[in-house]
Amino acid sequence: MNILITNDDGIYAPGLWAAVEALEGVGRVVVVAPDREQSGVGGAVTLNNPVRAREIVPAVQGTQTWAVEGTPADSVILALECLTKDVDLVVAGINMGANLGEDVLISGTVGAAFQGYTRGIPSVALSLASLRPTGFQGAAAVLKLLAVQAREGLLPAAVLLNVNVPPVPPEQIAGVEVTRLAKRTYADTVRQSDDGKNGYYWITRTRPAWHMLPGTDVWAVRHRRVSITPLHADLTATEAMPGLADLSHRLSAEVQPAPVSR
Ligand code: MN
Repeated sequence: MNILITNDDGIYAPGLWAAVEALEGVGRVVVVAPDREQSGVGGAVTLNNPVRAREIVPAVQGTQTWAVEGTPADSVILALECLTKDVDLVVAGINMGANLGEDVLISGTVGAAFQGYTRGIPSVALSLASLRPTGFQGAAAVLKLLAVQAREGLLPAAVLLNVNVPPVPPEQIAGVEVTRLAKRTYADTVRQSDDGKNGYYWITRTRPAWHMLPGTDVWAVRHRRVSITPLHADLTATEAMPGLADLSHRLSAEVQPAPVSR
């Protein structure tokens, strides 16, 4: 089995190499990842510049490794289209920090896995719910189990699996839950300052307001469970469509020119 590993924390992030080590013996691993921290860039793709990639000496011996001067999504696109062949599983992670609820829309980890998903390859975005660059054992163990499932053909390709692991030792993980995305409202705050010449703004993320509903990803991780949320690309709010019928009629009447009377 051929496994592509990428991330959004950059190619030197310890979580990425913990993932590589976890998959030793499960399959052949190729690493293609951004050459620097890219958290929060979502699924951004570089279209107005060339994207450089260079093969580098891996942190884990024997792993073909490419550093990409681009986004996480760029890395997966280059990997799948040019740098490697016949990828059976795309893994983005292990991310330093949770990717829960509405955050999946800005997550570079999810944005990377999305490129595998759209190409019909089983794809996993894997995050550890901790901002400390240690303690990847639990997430690594979960990754190994998932990769073995993929090797057996038991991982779905029709959805992207967004996996979050609680920051506890493997033996303290309380279980695995299939979850839905929580509503997680970040209070994005903007710090304003001045460099003596110009004003500048720094967008910072403060502690979110949690909506701890059972069955959500936030709930699962808070209860020391591994959260697996299946994601797909269809953001259509189907249930809102009937309620918009009147709006479309009103707009139609406005945009359609009145018939010309003779
Ligand atoms: Mn990250």
